[in-house]
Amino acid sequence: MSLLPERPIYLDCQATTPVDPRVVEAMLPYFTDCPGNPSSSNHLYGWEAKAAVDLARETAAQAIGAEPKEIVFTSGATEANNLAIKGVAEAYLSKGRHLITMQTEHNAVLEPCKYLEKLGFEVTYLPPEPDGLLDIECLEQAIRADTILVSVMAANNEIGVLQPLAEIGQVCRQRQILFHTDAAQAIGKIPLDVETMQIDLLSITGHKLYGPKGIGALYIRSRNPHVQVAAQLQGGGQERNVRSGTLPTPQIVGLGKAIELGLAEQATEAKRLTALRTHLWQKLQVLDGIHLNGHPQLRLPGCLSVSFAGVDGAALLLGLQPYVALSSGSACASSKPTPSHVLTALGLSSQLSKSTLRFGLGRFTTPEDIEQAAHHVINVIQQCRHQSSLNCS
Ligand SMILES: *Cc1c(COP(=O)(O)O)cnc(C)c1O
Repeated sequence: MSLLPERPIYLDCQATTPVDPRVVEAMLPYFTDCPGNPSSSNHLYGWEAKAAVDLARETAAQAIGAEPKEIVFTSGATEANNLAIKGVAEAYLSKGRHLITMQTEHNAVLEPCKYLEKLGFEVTYLPPEPDGLLDIECLEQAIRADTILVSVMAANNEIGVLQPLAEIGQVCRQRQILFHTDAAQAIGKIPLDVETMQIDLLSITGHKLYGPKGIGALYIRSRNPHVQVAAQLQGGGQERNVRSGTLPTPQIVGLGKAIELGLAEQATEAKRLTALRTHLWQKLQVLDGIHLNGHPQLRLPGCLSVSFAGVDGAALLLGLQPYVALSSGSACASSKPTPSHVLTALGLSSQLSKSTLRFGLGRFTTPEDIEQAAHHVINVIQQCRHQSSLNCS
């Protein structure tokens, strides 16, 4: 029996995931027995570290239908997005200064775009449809002669909707505009293929996929077309001069293992999580005034975003704290008083967006967890509503 007091059920897998024990095991030797720098080419320690990095690079490439040399390791998806957006903006200055993205992107895309605006670039922030999806016609109309990049995420971190990557890719390729996608939430959860989807740059991260925090990668297309990205970190010239810095072998090995497992288990996990998510949504139907955010089918298997009318958001989260660990929107925004920019873009009022719960189910979520969580959520909502009806009378 565990000596720890009972801890809340973890349902915040869009914020981060626990590292799979099989990933930890794969990483361990690279902290101690194999400490070499993958760039050290004169001895065994360097060679074995390089071999491990090469293998992870191959796994990451294969997962998205790319070549190993098209993968650049970064510290995570934030850095990968910054490198893609600022790196392309800098490299294609002579072609144009216009970029297109969506209002519902992660801040790791929106903030680099705002930064570029300060430097004189122009950015169009497309609104989503009410179900969170991009309207392709809306994208086509926004394209200009000087547009250099379209950045649209694969899966939304707050509401879980999946964007029509293949359609976006087709529009961009026809118009000879580069297409970047932030796939931090998507890799290992849904099929991704840079060829059929005509993706030119793609960002991933380890810690949303049962891998370690602090490691990610950017895919940069090398032919048809050969994509140029200006380095944002200068130094030892690692990663073909695109991203200098000593490669963190244990983290890279962990990322590779996490991708390998995610891919091997993707189909069965998607089925299992979709069933759990559907069950949770059905259980919540005993409550009135509930609203599902985002398209009901085109979504991540493990993500359910629900708004509860007539409930004080702060009281709801506080009431749930001992029982269920989740948040209303993104983890980065949970410390900010302003309502989620994603829910606002969907047309939700500030009040409704604050009384929203994002259920993030994952590999270690059990049917029992869902029963318990539903039970607690229903109780707390009923208490909150009872409380506010007392306050009103
Ligand atoms: C988590 C997340 C990021 C940031 O990734 P880090 O690896 O934590 O930097 C970027 N985009 C999306 C969609 C995310 O979910």
